[in-house]
Amino acid sequence: MSSEKTPNAPAANFIRNIVEHDLEQGAYKTRRWGGSPGDATHHAKGGPDPAKIRTRFPPEPNGYLHIGHAKSVFLNFGLARDYDGVCHMRFDDTNPEKEEQEYVDSITDMVQWLGFGWDKFGTSHLYFASNYFDFMYHAAETLIEAGHAYVDQQSADEMRANRGTLTEPGKNSPYRDRSPAENLALFREMRDGKHADGSMILRAKIDMASPNINLRDPAIYRIRRATHHNTGDKWCIYPMYTFAHPIEDALEQVTHSICTLEFEDQRPFYDWVLERLATPTEDVGGNKQPGLLAHPLPKQYEFARLNLTYVVLSKRKLIDLVENKHVSGWDDPRLPTLAGARRRGYTPEGFKLFTDRIGVSKADSWIEYTILEDCMREVLNTSAERRIAVLDPIKLVIDNYPEGQSEDCHAPNHPQKPELGKRVVPLTRELWIEREDFMEAPSKGYFRLFPDNMVRLRYGYVVKCTGFEKDADGIVTTVHCEYLPDTKSGTPGADSVKVKGNIHWVSSAHAYAAEVRLYDRLFKEANPGAGDRDYLDDLNPDSVKTITAQLEPALKDAKPEEAFQFERHGYFVADRKDSVAGKPVFNRTVTLRDAWQK
Ligand code: ATP
Ligand code: MG
Repeated sequence: MSSEKTPNAPAANFIRNIVEHDLEQGAYKTRRWGGSPGDATHHAKGGPDPAKIRTRFPPEPNGYLHIGHAKSVFLNFGLARDYDGVCHMRFDDTNPEKEEQEYVDSITDMVQWLGFGWDKFGTSHLYFASNYFDFMYHAAETLIEAGHAYVDQQSADEMRANRGTLTEPGKNSPYRDRSPAENLALFREMRDGKHADGSMILRAKIDMASPNINLRDPAIYRIRRATHHNTGDKWCIYPMYTFAHPIEDALEQVTHSICTLEFEDQRPFYDWVLERLATPTEDVGGNKQPGLLAHPLPKQYEFARLNLTYVVLSKRKLIDLVENKHVSGWDDPRLPTLAGARRRGYTPEGFKLFTDRIGVSKADSWIEYTILEDCMREVLNTSAERRIAVLDPIKLVIDNYPEGQSEDCHAPNHPQKPELGKRVVPLTRELWIEREDFMEAPSKGYFRLFPDNMVRLRYGYVVKCTGFEKDADGIVTTVHCEYLPDTKSGTPGADSVKVKGNIHWVSSAHAYAAEVRLYDRLFKEANPGAGDRDYLDDLNPDSVKTITAQLEPALKDAKPEEAFQFERHGYFVADRKDSVAGKPVFNRTVTLRDAWQK
């Protein structure tokens, strides 16, 4: 394994170091791959695994992916890509409640949008954990036969009382010493629907005095009559997540199983399950049984989850925001869901830069939302073409310019990329300019339009302000000016008149009056709901403002998801949902500068 880095290689982190070390040691050299997930016998029949490592991204299909998930996607798929491995797209759908096809579809969409896929070595590595229910059941019976699991009939209250505390050991269940044959018979009755939900559970038999509470005979199977989205009513018992997950990893020959820090205390149980199931056993009849799972076994590693200021990433809160209509849907551009971020104009490249920049560590921390915004700005600054937009329009009339005349001005599409060329913007007698580019009585240091002052109309002429009109309420409606014919940008002598101000404009005869949504942060507090507050009280009441803006004519042809810098304003994207051909609607992705710090 070469440790040589290409210039674009992501920075080292402790997980990459582990992977590189494992590859150098040849820790996974002997692994075989049976062509699909399966037990030890299945993989033994296959050839050497073409994948040097296997990782997985295992969302539960009970919600939409959010920015935190993006960190996990880039980590897991990124490792597989960089070390000649495969990352499995696995739906962890062992919980029969709350899982839906809609979520499955949006999750696969978003992972692909971020730039990853699961077809490798001629196979689609898209898996559903519920397809392993038969094996999981068999694994549970195997543990029972080997005396490692028992059926417990204590009530939920008794079980809680007997679990002990951090400082006190738990107490053994009165059912703990049932024989394997008895446990096996009861477990089969559970499976066959002979017992009520919650009346008994299967527990691992480990140690009720363990200092790690997760090892005090954790539950591994429960009775739950619920229709599963994949297996229907076939099962009325379902495995617990902590039992199912290591099995899923092992069946898929995952080498590095990466999860968030809350699972650190579960790692001993993860290893316990795998070791028991990989070891040859004897069944109730005394017959030797080979180990069910293949060595080398998967290993779990934990990293710090992403916590981001000004957003909520908990599924429960996101569901609450959507269901109670605080936002317009899962893809509302203000939500931190990936579907929302995409509509907002955030890009996969921006997320990649962000995940590289924040890195992967073992220490929990909060990341400032501005870091994410800066990444989006940086990417868009390079990729987005420039356009002109007047967001708060008032009229500017060039009184000495002939009525009905139109002339071409030339605006570069990207100041740092001359190869992107220039486009024509028409100049006429009546223009739209920004309201804030005129002041009746200028404040100190104001260089834009005010009576008798001169400014340059960007890409056009120098004009001198000659007057203005107000409506009955005293609001300025029109500004008047005269242009200096010899000063057109790009012509010889254009600079003969020096001015300090430079303003943008759009010809009112050619402008495209468009719906533009000015999005801002959904929450006004950095830590929504911190202290005793209800997080909903921290919603920003001004998180969206919809305006009609006057845009340069070329923007009429913007395709959904096309991104632009509106000069002096920020980055905007044509909404992928509400835009129709010839009538795009624009969303503000991010302003040019951070307006939140002060
Ligand atoms: P829940 O457990 O409440 O259903 P979850 O956010 O853990 O929600 P999963 O669908 O289980 O959602 O997550 C899939 C993967 O994404 C997991 O491997 C998890 O570690 C990772 N993940 C989830 N949230 C974050 C986060 N904030 N930062 C980094 N990784 C995350
Ligand atoms: Mg989870």
